Amino acid sequence: MPGPRTAACQNDRVTFQGSGSIDTGNVSGGGGGGVGRIALGGGAGLIITIVALLFGVNPGELLGSQAPQQGTSSGAAEIQQQLDSCTWEMANENTICRIKATTVSLDEVWSELMPGYQPPKTVIFADSVDTGCGAASAATGPFYCPADSTAYFDPSFFTQLRRMGGSDGPLAQEYVVAHEYGHHIQNLTGALAKGQRMGSQGPRSGSVRVELQADCLAGVWAYHADNGPDALLAPISEQQISSVIQTAKAIGDDTIQGPGSNPEGWTHGSATQRAKWFGIGYRSGDPNRCDTFATNDL
Ligand SMILES: [Zn+2]
Repeated sequence: MPGPRTAACQNDRVTFQGSGSIDTGNVSGGGGGGVGRIALGGGAGLIITIVALLFGVNPGELLGSQAPQQGTSSGAAEIQQQLDSCTWEMANENTICRIKATTVSLDEVWSELMPGYQPPKTVIFADSVDTGCGAASAATGPFYCPADSTAYFDPSFFTQLRRMGGSDGPLAQEYVVAHEYGHHIQNLTGALAKGQRMGSQGPRSGSVRVELQADCLAGVWAYHADNGPDALLAPISEQQISSVIQTAKAIGDDTIQGPGSNPEGWTHGSATQRAKWFGIGYRSGDPNRCDTFATNDL
């Protein structure tokens, strides 16, 4: 359909403004080796693993310390080639470039907000990758490894996310990157270690507090990312925020577990909680509002 609807949709897909190459030395292509022993069965096993690690922090806990087999590194080389050619314009069309551009925006925002901020590394991989937290496969989903201060993304995850009911809108994908950066912030503040000491399951577990805080910190990024004359993001639209909320709800523990979901098994928080904490960060722009450890009203 021509007319305003088309214009709205196009506008909805544009997030980065600016032009030319994207300068950062912190994003690289990785992986390409085969994971020696993948703890996955068929389709059902795949889903369970993604659920356990979705936006998680440590594949080694689940996958063990598997040594990657010797494999082709052509995947890594291809991704690196694509990363090297990324421009800001391409970041609105291409997922790999979008991840790269988002990290630049995140580094800019967090270096403003956090004294002593040290940027993480980001690795974009295909199929499998060896990390400081053990070997991971595409089925791991995006994760942050505190041992090597690196966020890992397999772009094929975004197809999986859409199948789970998430949005494939650009801001929804950027939210995933910002969530993993949230774990990096938590690594710097000590919240990650604190959460890991407070248990990995249950509605008030350390894991749920860590994950909801990462959603909140992603919201804080979004608040600042389109703010000011040098903002890297064009003004965020209501539709784009809706796409993030849709995604946050799609990956809530109760959404994934379905009817009869038992909160005692939660690791990331419910759909409502995930959307709520992203909103707290997005509306306030204040990381101090993201203290999920200071309340039981999660
Ligand atoms: Zn997470």
